[in-house]
Amino acid sequence: MYQDFATFHNRLTLRATLTLKTGLRIGSGAGDSVVGAEIPIVRDALGRPFIPGSSFKGALRAAVERIARTINRRPDLWACANPLDHEAGACVTRRRKEELLREATTNGRIDEQEFARTVAKETCTVCRLFGSPWLAAKLRVKDLSLIEESWAGRVEVRTGVGIDRDTCTAAGQVLYSFEVVPAGTRFRCELVVENADDVELGLLFLGLREMQRGRIPLGGARSRGLGWAELSGWETFERIDREHLLDYLIEGKIEGKIGMVHFSREIG
Ligand SMILES: [Zn+2]
Repeated sequence: MYQDFATFHNRLTLRATLTLKTGLRIGSGAGDSVVGAEIPIVRDALGRPFIPGSSFKGALRAAVERIARTINRRPDLWACANPLDHEAGACVTRRRKEELLREATTNGRIDEQEFARTVAKETCTVCRLFGSPWLAAKLRVKDLSLIEESWAGRVEVRTGVGIDRDTCTAAGQVLYSFEVVPAGTRFRCELVVENADDVELGLLFLGLREMQRGRIPLGGARSRGLGWAELSGWETFERIDREHLLDYLIEGKIEGKIGMVHFSREIG
């Protein structure tokens, strides 16, 4: 993973509220089909439910991939066939990465900036935003923390029927139960995008609009109708450009550069 602080150009921080329209199941540890188990949701140190940023990011990435494949204007905006297949489906395969690494190496010394630049050039728009094994993500999603007043302090427990692994049939006796965060619960959402160009930002905003419309499911047990949520209430829109970076590092924030912007106005 390479991060080049010298080329820092801009940072955008977006904050919104995620409201559950149905129950949400994001389990900790064991999978959904473990027979006889009682599967808890993920909780923070104080026992409150939260949504791992990685879960949110994964769901958003899947949606953004679909959009990018539909638009498919290579090399400006595209998505590779399978970012997880580093042998064939990914935009920059393991073999290609090795080639680029050799090309960026002189007398046994790797020019990391050159390597990062050539990898980025061949990386699809989605992997540039969400990251790949060879390139740091431009988008970071913080863990979504609970908005206390939206939660009554209780989770729901649902019951499922386990699948017998030997016969592959639903075995009547083997029930399992899992916790679900109730509908109506709200979470704080914060995304940080660094050094994204207009195309990358535009693609991200198309994905966020799908989330705003409640079309992207989160978590597990989706076949049971769980995981539907809506993003709303975009509060702040913070953009830090290169010339203000020093101020930002010294002051922590930049007066006049942080404004209230309605998200709908930004993406139409
Ligand atoms: Zn890719």
